[in-house]
Amino acid sequence: VSEAACRSSVPVFHTDGVRTRLSYPCLEDARLVHGLVVFKNLTLGADYAAWHAMVSVELRSSLAPAPDRIVIPHQVHSSRVIDADAAGPGVPVADALVTGAPSTAIAVSVSDCVPLFAVDFEHGVIGLAHCGWKGTAGGVVEEFLRGLIAKEADPKATTFVVGAAIGSCCYRVHDDLLECFDSREAAKYSRPAGGGMFFDLKGVVASRLISAGAARAKVSIDDTCTSCRSDILASYRKEGKACGRMLAFLMLTP
Ligand SMILES: [Zn+2]
Repeated sequence: VSEAACRSSVPVFHTDGVRTRLSYPCLEDARLVHGLVVFKNLTLGADYAAWHAMVSVELRSSLAPAPDRIVIPHQVHSSRVIDADAAGPGVPVADALVTGAPSTAIAVSVSDCVPLFAVDFEHGVIGLAHCGWKGTAGGVVEEFLRGLIAKEADPKATTFVVGAAIGSCCYRVHDDLLECFDSREAAKYSRPAGGGMFFDLKGVVASRLISAGAARAKVSIDDTCTSCRSDILASYRKEGKACGRMLAFLMLTP
């Protein structure tokens, strides 16, 4: 069970016959373009340059209005946050991005890890973080919040969606993973089943956000599990390298 007091964010599934895209009703707004698009049956492996080139082309052609700029980082399961507005050309190495610039599209890729969306409509600041267990244990959620505040977002006024990712129904983990978390946190967000331990990464991300200053009422969790829904979503755990990837994207409209 995810962070009990957080609302569920039920995604809307869209398909154009080629790709599935998820969107979140709480982020629907004329000032924003957002989504989580699935690149199914993709076998790019570790070729980040090929992935980057492909999704950049697709984002540029699919977003309306067209972005002036697209910033997609090379992710390394770190807690590093980049201000996309200050990033030079080239691919930054980071696991979270923030921007206050309209028409700058930002994106992170996931396949079981948590895509964390942040939108402060009032102050015109958006951000995306890639939260796997390693980055989360390493503080990416807290760094992400600091990065948003540095762009003058108000954490209490920011809407957060803990997006589709592997759920505690399927995320079987070993003790060495749990030992990377505070023991109380590990105990609260794991449960034994079938001789193993199952971890609620989405619950941990939401709880850390709220502890770091987000408003509980503005944090929601998508309960969709990538492993349970590997028929249409991408689950590395369930399907291995050929699972494909999902790209979470955000852009403020001009
Ligand atoms: Zn599941």
